Amino acid sequence: KREEEAIKLDGLSVAQMKEVREKAEKFTFQTEVNRMMKLIINSLYRNKEIFLRELISNASDAIDKIRLLALTNKGELDTNPELNIRIKADKENKILHIMDSGIGMTHQDLINNLGTIAKSGTADFLSKMQDTSKTESGQDLNDMIGQFGVGFYSAFLVADRVVVTTKHNADKQYIWESDANSFSIVEDPRGDTLKRGSIISLHLKDEAQDFLEEDTVRELIRKYSQFINFPILMWSSKT
Ligand code: ADP
Ligand code: MG
Repeated sequence: KREEEAIKLDGLSVAQMKEVREKAEKFTFQTEVNRMMKLIINSLYRNKEIFLRELISNASDAIDKIRLLALTNKGELDTNPELNIRIKADKENKILHIMDSGIGMTHQDLINNLGTIAKSGTADFLSKMQDTSKTESGQDLNDMIGQFGVGFYSAFLVADRVVVTTKHNADKQYIWESDANSFSIVEDPRGDTLKRGSIISLHLKDEAQDFLEEDTVRELIRKYSQFINFPILMWSSKT
């Protein structure tokens, strides 16, 4: 039941959902990603809230990238000229959505960027963590988180399932889905509903339901994301 609920996507019938699941290509995470996720979950459980900083930072990076592209090809922005980050708390379904009108990800981007550790920061973080794991203290850890940033996989601090819906100008719209053990990718049967950009949908764990509260989210944005260059809009459903 929970499985079925978990992939419930706006505007998809049960039959379509079933089709999505059957059609999806299945992938396994790179070994380093599995190590990284275990490390994040085991060492940052007291700092769960940093997931929002990481996802907003990625949203901002994605918008920077499309702006940069648009410098040499103005048409790139036409698919959606509005550059912003939107956060929506869906209390009924216990999902927190972080949306951006950034560059989006192609099918290949999804495999490369959300299945492997490509960036140097995370690799450094991993090796540093392992070096200091025996003498680990809270302070060291906080310093290190500040230094490296732990990235996308921190979503699994608060979510037991993450769905990424994404549209890049050079490709179709895709749905990436993961329960932290493996991931799948499928073309979105709803078509290209996002003009351009991504939605990171976090199916929140029971102990992370507080992140559906507007006040909590606003406070975190004030705390960690006050220097983001794009508007961050927030809305929440009343339940
Ligand atoms: P970093 O941001 O340091 O590169 P992350 O783990 O935070 O590492 O993200 C990994 C990669 O996934 C990013 O480099 C980017 O290519 C891709 N990515 C993550 N979130 C988004 C997003 N909202 N839009 C487009 N690409 C994204
Ligand atoms: Mg990042």
